[in-house]
Amino acid sequence: MSDRHPTNSFETLAIHAGNTADPQTGAVVPPIYQVSTYKQDGVGGLRGGYEYSRSANPTRTALEENLAALEGGRRGLAFASGLAAEDCLLRALLAPGDHVVIPNDAYGGTFRLFAKVVSRWGVEFTVADTSDPAAVRDAVTDRTKAIWVETPSNPLLGITDIAAVAAIARSAGARLVVDNTFASPYLQQPLALGADVVVHSTTKYMGGHSDVVGGALVVNDQDLADELAFHQNAMGAVAGPFDAWLVLRGIKTLAVRMDRHSENASRIAEMLGGHARVTNVLYPGLSGHPGHETAAKQMKAFGGMLSFQVAGGEEAAVEVCNRARLFTLGESLGGVESLIEHPGRMTHASAAGSALEVPADLVRLSVGIESVDDLLTDLRQALG
Ligand SMILES: *Cc1c(COP(=O)(O)O)cnc(C)c1O
Repeated sequence: MSDRHPTNSFETLAIHAGNTADPQTGAVVPPIYQVSTYKQDGVGGLRGGYEYSRSANPTRTALEENLAALEGGRRGLAFASGLAAEDCLLRALLAPGDHVVIPNDAYGGTFRLFAKVVSRWGVEFTVADTSDPAAVRDAVTDRTKAIWVETPSNPLLGITDIAAVAAIARSAGARLVVDNTFASPYLQQPLALGADVVVHSTTKYMGGHSDVVGGALVVNDQDLADELAFHQNAMGAVAGPFDAWLVLRGIKTLAVRMDRHSENASRIAEMLGGHARVTNVLYPGLSGHPGHETAAKQMKAFGGMLSFQVAGGEEAAVEVCNRARLFTLGESLGGVESLIEHPGRMTHASAAGSALEVPADLVRLSVGIESVDDLLTDLRQALG
């Protein structure tokens, strides 16, 4: 329980944390402070601590306080995109000669950031199957400064045991970073499981309406929080006031949306599992999924993301994507509307030929909150 919010309940914090009524007007929603600079009462006399909006802006502060409360962290930081958040984190944590363990299944852009950008600055990385704690332990070296985990992972819905990997990170003196984009803090809270940093693409479930690109970091450790805040200001890829406001607005319905996303995805996983043209369904809610028990232990429900493999290979999978009507063919995920895509040719094309290459017959769904009957009907017709 925090001093400022007399509750532990997620649904209440989602709506109220950071959302104090505007002191001037009583507006119940934080205004969009579309402003770059602030009048000072005499040199150095700041009203409310604001001097320049790269350093801090009241709308962004509202979102950052909300993010910290929802993840159970001390400090939240909002960025212009998920990758901007990741870039800031990596440059704050790492120096040339350092080593990072990264997952063999991750958002394609995260892999690209390591392989094509961060590696040029003398940071080395090892790709490991993080769903196997022994593989993570084997990948750690005496120069490992961070272990990066994405759970559930994108697009194979692999599950990593956060508490188990946190113990490995602790004994290696490395920081555990968890990309919590697929689960959202409503379904999973990595800091409580021992993670040091939570990463979000707020573009996805946090925003929830496919109308904003944003990112976030949340941490508990005060020194790390100060270090990240320094880098956020020094590097400058902050969330603008309107984008921060959109994410803050989206978060108010996060709990109810995630419940419905999870229910709809479970029904769809069940249908696909019995479909003659589907050879494999990847959804952690299915009892046959290799990560099911771990997911049941560390998640409140199994989320809205699901992938499946189609009989007939790549062309058949592409055909299913092209035939869908209610499921919109498109990248991204986490919005109220259902999306379908072919990871091999779309979101994960940049991982081709690498350890993160995805199966060619794979289709990924971001299951929205429409009527599940309509979604089932559309998928049946798309499968033919
Ligand atoms: C989209 C995504 C990112 C990158 O976020 P952007 O907002 O697109 O920069 C990182 N991780 C995961 C799991 C994502 O889905």
